[in-house]
Amino acid sequence: MINEYSYCPRLFYLEYVQQEWDHSADTLEGKFVHRRVDTQAGQAPAADDLDQNSRIHARSIDVGSQRLGAIARIDLLEGENGWVMPIDYKRGSAPDVPERSWEPERVQLCLQGMLLRDNGYNCDEGVIYYAESQERVTVLFDAELTTRTLELLDEARSTAESGRIPPPLIDSPKCPRCSLVGICLPDEVNLLRIEAQPTLPFETEAVSDEEQVQVTPRVRNLIPARDDKLALYVQGQGHSVGLKGELLEVRDRKEVVARARLRQVSQLSLFGNVQLSAQALREVASRDVTILHLSYGGWLSAVTTPPPHKNIELRRRQFQAAADKAICLYLARAFVSGKIRNSRTLLRRNARQLHPHITHRMAEARHRADKAASLEQLLGMEGSAARDYFASFSQMLKVTDESLTAFDFTSRNRRPPRDPVNALLSFLYAMLTKEMVVTLIGAGFDPYLGFFHQPRYGRPALALDLIEEFRPLIADSVVIGLINTGEIRPKDFIARAGSFALKTEGRKRVLEAYERRLDTEVTHPLFGYSISYRRVFEVQARLLGRFLMGEIAGYEPFCTR
Ligand code: SF4
Repeated sequence: MINEYSYCPRLFYLEYVQQEWDHSADTLEGKFVHRRVDTQAGQAPAADDLDQNSRIHARSIDVGSQRLGAIARIDLLEGENGWVMPIDYKRGSAPDVPERSWEPERVQLCLQGMLLRDNGYNCDEGVIYYAESQERVTVLFDAELTTRTLELLDEARSTAESGRIPPPLIDSPKCPRCSLVGICLPDEVNLLRIEAQPTLPFETEAVSDEEQVQVTPRVRNLIPARDDKLALYVQGQGHSVGLKGELLEVRDRKEVVARARLRQVSQLSLFGNVQLSAQALREVASRDVTILHLSYGGWLSAVTTPPPHKNIELRRRQFQAAADKAICLYLARAFVSGKIRNSRTLLRRNARQLHPHITHRMAEARHRADKAASLEQLLGMEGSAARDYFASFSQMLKVTDESLTAFDFTSRNRRPPRDPVNALLSFLYAMLTKEMVVTLIGAGFDPYLGFFHQPRYGRPALALDLIEEFRPLIADSVVIGLINTGEIRPKDFIARAGSFALKTEGRKRVLEAYERRLDTEVTHPLFGYSISYRRVFEVQARLLGRFLMGEIAGYEPFCTR
């Protein structure tokens, strides 16, 4: 941990206090380089048993010291003539700097040497072995390095005890290589720390004058624009999902109907009566993949996740904030305002003969929502804006003679949906909810405790809060696309006792269109970079977390122009 602190105090805090973890290409390569030295091998006799003739060559040795309050795992310990030397394996080549190594690597090694000394060994130097250049760089544990190591150890301890996450580095070249860049959001947080004005009775981190001067509003595109992994949906009734090596196999009785590589699966959604083998469940969960159990109609009935996220600080803050009426109202306004804005934009872009008074009324509704005095008032404003929006929704649909009656949409209805358009909307809102549940679990939230939507048994209230701004952008937009391109037709629905539902083939096409939409890249209105909608969900969830932790002064809904 001392090397992380030396690299960046915020990285140390994220990893060791908040227990955040993610792999970058560098950490994966590092893991590969360590695969051999992480296996225990060889003997390391106690210091008292060493003599001049003892030779040591032992891998993966744990050492600790109460005096220093630290422990370490040494990759390789070599020794002869009564002296020992820790050897640390690193990926890559020795850097082209006079010391031939970076400070984080040197202090990490020096701490190992100090721990060995505290355990009675003679140790005054160590070696960093760079795997790519196959180079051994010797590091002397002199007074200067020892003092610096102790200083960093003290600082790291105080930072952990302070309970306050250090601010992100500013415009640092370290960030692009950092494995936690997608969780830390350094440039985004720096921009919002400076630009956002506190609007709440909420304590935020003070920004020092020095930081004010240093901060450039440049937001680099440091996070991947899209996720390489894909959601796996299994909706065939009676199908089963099993494990075969690195593959998930979907079977209809004995016949294999689909296969997916485990490392390419981001989430697993099982609709209705689909079986999952214990082996597949264990393997999927061990890879941090969330399993969603949905009713055949798409209603979320259960979620299987790996053990809960270890970032208890965030959940504690979420629970505190949810009990604070001012914060609930502030966030609820943002969610509703974002939804109304995006609904209005969708209408303006797609409706054929939109009456100006509708857009005017929706603009007014949004401004009123921004100032709503209570959640009840906000609920009323949201309802009236939704009525205006859905009253004009059919103007965005291009219906043919064949689909005229089936897709004749007049207003929103649900539970059960009484026409095909409402069936599509309900299904896609359910998919959006499950998407946000997965995102929130991954970001460390409890998806069942919201700020606008009140807790009710089994209702993922926070997910419902956060999807408000995305309903028009994702679900409504997919419905319009499916109907206008003829991808979905009246024959794709089944009517039962006055309610409508999608048939299996139709639903498959809806899910494909939905996934395409999530994968669509959009320019982020605040940060200016291109990013898929799926990634936008994660950025919004993490920014909400940064707001709740007092790092940024507001939550800005995602609104397209
Ligand atoms: S992204 Fe940058 S600021 Fe954030 S933890 Fe990593 S190095 Fe530190």
